[in-house]
Amino acid sequence: MQNKTSPGSTCCDEFDPNALNVEQARKKILETVKSVVDVETIPIREALNRVLAESVKSTINVPPHINSAMDGYAISGMDIPTTGENKLSVVGTVMAGRPLDITIAAGECVRIMTGGKIPAGTDTVIMQEHVQREAEIITLSASHAVGQNVRQAGEDLAKGDTVFQPGRRLTPADIGMLASMGNAKATVFRKIKVAFFSTGDELCSVGQPLGDGQIYDSNRYTLDGMLRRLDVELIDMGVIPDNRELIEAAFAEATEKADVLITTGGVSVGEADFVKETLEKLGQVGFWKIAMKPGRPLAFGQIEGCQFFGLPGNPVSAMVTFYQFVQPAILRMMGIEDVAPKFLLLKTKDSLKKRPGRLEFQRGMIETDENGGMVVSSVGAQGSGILSSMSKANCFIELPLECSVVEVGEYVKVQPFAGMI
Ligand code: AMP
Ligand code: MG
Repeated sequence: MQNKTSPGSTCCDEFDPNALNVEQARKKILETVKSVVDVETIPIREALNRVLAESVKSTINVPPHINSAMDGYAISGMDIPTTGENKLSVVGTVMAGRPLDITIAAGECVRIMTGGKIPAGTDTVIMQEHVQREAEIITLSASHAVGQNVRQAGEDLAKGDTVFQPGRRLTPADIGMLASMGNAKATVFRKIKVAFFSTGDELCSVGQPLGDGQIYDSNRYTLDGMLRRLDVELIDMGVIPDNRELIEAAFAEATEKADVLITTGGVSVGEADFVKETLEKLGQVGFWKIAMKPGRPLAFGQIEGCQFFGLPGNPVSAMVTFYQFVQPAILRMMGIEDVAPKFLLLKTKDSLKKRPGRLEFQRGMIETDENGGMVVSSVGAQGSGILSSMSKANCFIELPLECSVVEVGEYVKVQPFAGMI
């Protein structure tokens, strides 16, 4: 990556000494937000994507008993011949869930199915394909190891183990683990309530005819989608026109109902002043300039007890600032510790250009190359109003503040989107 400015471009309009960088802004936000404390105990089926509020210990061994990993014959390891062959008599059959309450003597074995409880006197399972059976006699060779094909009690989860710590966001596998321990319920933090509205006189809601000079409001729909993935309670407050009384009433209503309020539009320089005025009047809100592209302006603060995020109106800027700042903040409020976006380092198939001075979140496409590895390409036009760039993309390509050109084949930092696969 080169740090030089390309001929004809200037970094003067990019570099702002008063701007915060992305890391600083995220740190300030995460230092401010507080995790919820209220908890609820709910059936595990409803706990997917919820955040555990307490640690979970297993009260049983999983599996609870020694059992067979194969369909075959349970024998004592002492009966494996050291050379040649050995013959054992089959004295019974163990199906999964149907244990045999007998002790197997030397020279004996039982037919056993996968998951069947290993009977007393045996410790080894020989796969059925590896023996010859004639009537009630099996013949086995020397090529077997003592203890093979057996699952030990507690080899997955041992009784008394702390299986989960508080702050874990439950995945489908976790829900299965809770079930395997016999837990019907989980104690999780309550859902965060998030209110959001769009501001702007030019905005028309879907279902209405588009007036002259109007555009359809798309931000509320992208926000709705991004928030649904976080499993929060949504309070959609619609479009609020650039009108002092209506804006003020909307802020008052949102802060009463919600833990978080997100607005889009109205935070750039030159916006109708009463949006800022209202925010300043109602709470402690900072208007930040962030050294990033897209998404330079961001308002952040508290109104009453509510965390407020004023995102820029441009559709791509609103999404980028949501992913970089709002999502980590909401995840932290949900009770999760590790919330910063995750990266891959991938080679770029395209050369990439930017002006030095701001961290850039270009929209990219992670693809499989001819060797089966991952590479990234650009999706093309990168304007902050080009929402189709977000739609085509499956990742952000994060280009550092000072970089200006990235050549084909160089490594870049890539932030994959949720649901990429
Ligand atoms: P603003 O941040 O309010 O100055 O808006 C910046 C640009 O984004 C303007 O072109 C707006 O028309 C556009 N914009 C603002 N809000 C929305 C929205 N909810 N949906 C789509 N475009 C919007
Ligand atoms: Mg506006």
